[in-house]
This record gives sequence, structure tokens and C-alpha cells, in this order.
Amino acid sequence: MSIVILRKTKYDYNKLKPQIFEILDFFCGDLIKKNSRVVIKPNLLTPASPDRAILTHPLVVKASVEYVLQKGARPQISDSPGTGSFEKILKESSIRDALTGVYVDFKEFKTSLLVDIGEPFKQIEIGEDALKADVLINLPKLKTHTQMLLTLGVKNLFGCIVGLKKPEWHFRTGVDREMFAKLLVKIYKAVNPTVTILDGILAMEGQGPGRGGIPRELGVLIGSNDTVAIDFVVCKMIGIDPDRLLTNKVAKEMGFVHEGIDLKGDQMFGIEDFKLPQITPLVFGPKRLHRVMRKHLVQRPVCDDTLCELCEECLQYCPANAISQSRKKIHFDYDSCIRCYCCIEVCPHGAFCTEETLLGKIVRKVLKLNK
Ligand code: SF4
Ligand code: SF4
Repeated sequence: MSIVILRKTKYDYNKLKPQIFEILDFFCGDLIKKNSRVVIKPNLLTPASPDRAILTHPLVVKASVEYVLQKGARPQISDSPGTGSFEKILKESSIRDALTGVYVDFKEFKTSLLVDIGEPFKQIEIGEDALKADVLINLPKLKTHTQMLLTLGVKNLFGCIVGLKKPEWHFRTGVDREMFAKLLVKIYKAVNPTVTILDGILAMEGQGPGRGGIPRELGVLIGSNDTVAIDFVVCKMIGIDPDRLLTNKVAKEMGFVHEGIDLKGDQMFGIEDFKLPQITPLVFGPKRLHRVMRKHLVQRPVCDDTLCELCEECLQYCPANAISQSRKKIHFDYDSCIRCYCCIEVCPHGAFCTEETLLGKIVRKVLKLNK
């Protein structure tokens, strides 16, 4: 049985701090020793202010750091951002400000160790500091995700893959969401966070996880030493079958889901009308037709030229080199595009969204493939 602590709360430090201390005490109080190296891994995807609900809130990070310090241990804040410099993210997120005068290391994941995560991926490079930490505190944000439906506790650990290795792995798993979910679960098991605290106080719905999403106040903080159990609880709260989140489904198939959840703290409540991104099956039928299907049937990324600032972040990040810029406009090579939607995630100006092709709409309606 997994234990999960749920707390209704808000970004009021006097209220939030004891709640975070309570969760950390319960799940890792005995594990943090004097001088332990404790790596705190928030969601630091891209430079964004706290009101955008893209990143873990600075007060959640601050309370975690203060807990570690109170134990006489050494806190370190680390992540490998999707876009933008680590320093810029710390500034724009207000994490730098929140931790002024507090003794903490800020260190981007830069070096990796090779870890064998088994078939079909075999060896993968994972951030060395995450692997070598005495204790790892995972601090994800509750957000929607255009490719994977939601990004919660398990998906947050993909940030332990250093820099441009992330899009490379997107490319390797291609359009197969289930394969990508398998990769995420394997990374989660390899990293093995000691405790996860999900920041769902100001969450994100709609076309997340970047600037295309809409912030929504849910007022919830969820902690556990079983990250998958947290992801299950969130699905139940927003009223969806936990298996719709593929990382849950895959974790269950791999035997990583415990029988039952013992929910402590405040009572679980339902979240009405939580807006999920529209996720449609990417490809189906015989494999030889997948390429042509992907081009004509699968939702494609599109760019709103009025929002695009031509910063070219998307060009650098696209794992398939499917984006180019000419005549002051962004262009897509939809033949090469693998529909990973990384561009939506990393665009600092929210210029991308997805667009259903007309043919895709018709085919899915006829075959009743929409979920
Ligand atoms: S679409 Fe976004 S990331 Fe790409 S060039 Fe325009 S502003 Fe930059
Ligand atoms: S264009 Fe966007 S969706 Fe297509 S492969 Fe590149 S990053 Fe992924």
C-alpha cells in the first residue's frame, strides 16, 4: 500500500512551510543526515514568472530548502532546462529572490552517467548529481501536456536528462507515446526520487506545459515516496481513468504500482471541468502507412506569426530538424516532424499550438478513434 499526503493550501508561506515540512518529515525525515547532499529537482522548464504556472513555485522550493538546512544537510537545486539559461530561469521564476541569503547551491545538471535501463533503450545518460544525491526531492508542477496528456511526478524526472539529450530521446521514441511513457517510467525508476511533492496550488490546464496552457488555481499539494501513486491521485481528482495517463498504465504493466493508496492529510476532492489537451491517437493500422498517416492525419504544430519573436529556440530544440526560418517566418517540414510537440513546450513566447488536419478529423470521426 502506498501512502500519499494531500494538503489543501495556498502560496502563503506561513501555511505552506509547515505543510511541506510535514510531508518531508514523514517520508524522508530519517534519511536526511547531517551533511547529506540533498538534490532538489523542481520543474525549471523555461524562464517564466510564477503566475504562468509553468514552473514549480518559489515558495515550494524555498520551504524544501529550509527543511534540508534545518536537518544540517546540504541542499542543491538542480534541473536541466528545456530552453533559456539556468540563471535566467532562476531569476524569472523568482527562486533566486525567494532564496536570497539562504545557503543553497544552484547547479544545472551538466554531466551525466551512463545507466542501463534495460530493453529496448539499454544505456541512457542521466544527470550525475541526480544519481549521486544522498536524497532526491522531486518537486513537479501539475500541468497538462500536449503530447502526454499531463506532466506530473514521473514526467518531471525527464529533466534529469541533460540538455539536448532530451530531444534526442524524443526522436528515438518517435511518435509512439507508449514507448515514450515507457522511457519516462524507466528513467523514474533509475533516478528513484526519495520523495515527491507535487505543486498543484496554481496548476495548468489546456494546451500545456508551456505558455499555451492556462493557469488554474487548484490549491492542492500532494506528497509521497511513491511518485506513481501521486500521479494516480491527480487523475482521480480530475475525474479521468488513471490509465489514460500512459506513464501510469506502463508503470502498472511493469509491476511498479502498489495495491491501494492510503490517503492521509486533507480529504481528496474532485476538480470539476479540468481542461485537458486534445490528445488523439497518433497513428494506427499497418506500420508501412504510419509515415503518410503522420503527415496527413496527426495534429500538427502551427506557429502564430503575430506571437513569434523569431528567437529560434524552437529550431535549436526540434529533434527532427523540422523547423526552419525564412522571410521572417517559421516553417515546418511536416514530412520530418515526429509530432513530439517539444516546440510547443520550449517556445518562450507561446507562439505554437496544434492544429487538427481536416482529413484527420474526418478519419477519426469515421473510425471513432477520439477518446
Ligand atoms: S516560434 Fe517561438 S521559439 Fe520559435 S522562433 Fe518563434 S518565438 Fe522563438
Ligand atoms: S516541429 Fe515540433 S513537433 Fe515536430 S518534431 Fe520538431 S519539435 Fe517535434
